[in-house]
Amino acid sequence: MTLTTPATTPAAQPSRQARRAQARQAARAAARSTPQTQTGRLTEQILEAAAAQAAAAAQAASLAKAHLAEAEVQAWLHDIDARLAVIFAHPEQNLGHIEEQLARSVKEPLRWLAQRAAQVQANAVACQCPQCQGPLTQQKCLARTIHSRFGPLTLWRGYGWCARCGQWHFPADYALGLGQAQLVLLLADGALWIWNLAQDRFPDARQRLDLFHAEEHLWAVAHDLYGRGTPEAQAWVAPLLQQLRDDQTVAVIASLAELKPRLREAQQKKVQTPIEYFEHNAPRMKYKEVLEARKACEAGQATEPQRQLANHPVGSGAIESACRQYQCRFKRTGQFWTTPGDEALLGLETLWRNGRWDQLYPHAKSSAALN
Ligand SMILES: [Zn+2]
Repeated sequence: MTLTTPATTPAAQPSRQARRAQARQAARAAARSTPQTQTGRLTEQILEAAAAQAAAAAQAASLAKAHLAEAEVQAWLHDIDARLAVIFAHPEQNLGHIEEQLARSVKEPLRWLAQRAAQVQANAVACQCPQCQGPLTQQKCLARTIHSRFGPLTLWRGYGWCARCGQWHFPADYALGLGQAQLVLLLADGALWIWNLAQDRFPDARQRLDLFHAEEHLWAVAHDLYGRGTPEAQAWVAPLLQQLRDDQTVAVIASLAELKPRLREAQQKKVQTPIEYFEHNAPRMKYKEVLEARKACEAGQATEPQRQLANHPVGSGAIESACRQYQCRFKRTGQFWTTPGDEALLGLETLWRNGRWDQLYPHAKSSAALN
């Protein structure tokens, strides 16, 4: 750009120094305004996102009927026509292609319908405590995504605080069969990597050391001291086993520590292993209340909490057995799995083993009966 404006009087024109000062001032102002502008933009974005969430929640809450709009039905029919047109243009495509394309075209409309139907169900649930039926305070709304057979469904559910139970509750989740466990118990054999994993994935879970692994450590010492299968080994280990079952881990550790100096060096090492094992796992060695609850059930004198407690496992045998059964199916010679393939077959295998195949294919039972 060429400056053509004639110069005014020298007094009116700012000096070079003044121009520099002005430039510095402008730069400072710009520097001051930039973070403010950014903050302003961020605030706007947050407010916009919150408004969009509130609008989605309000729309979901007002849903009273699960159906497809006329435009959606038309779009779906158009989609089917387009898919079939492609197939008709390729005579080499067979019935399998037709089935596949129709199945794909119907999936999305079914996902919409499932999402809306589940939302209607959720909206019909009273926002009260599903356990004590008491009122829920501080009620709010939160979205949750469920991975259904038609794809991801987003549901908005009300939730609130039950002062009587001292818990937050999502009543619609209970009604829809999406409730989450009140208590998560994690049983393991004491390997450190498992506790680390538990801490990472299930930080709120109660941890319990497998009782039989704990007992094995005592038996190993008994066999080493008195010989395998001897009455002396049995006599030595019996009171310690009882102490383990009575949650007296500290007493067991003390007995082993007392024994240690009286042993030869090689045996001392063998006693040190269970001492460290019990010291490390002591907070996880709580068996007494479960075992007492079981005894009360056998004697027919159990209270309701004891009846529930009696079902809590103290050993990981059931889990290890389940792993063994799956391994028989999934670790056969030459088998390799992709994650989706493995997960899909794992689901089928579980339904099959639990005798719930008819839930997946309701016609299977009736046709089996006919045959
Ligand atoms: Zn309650």
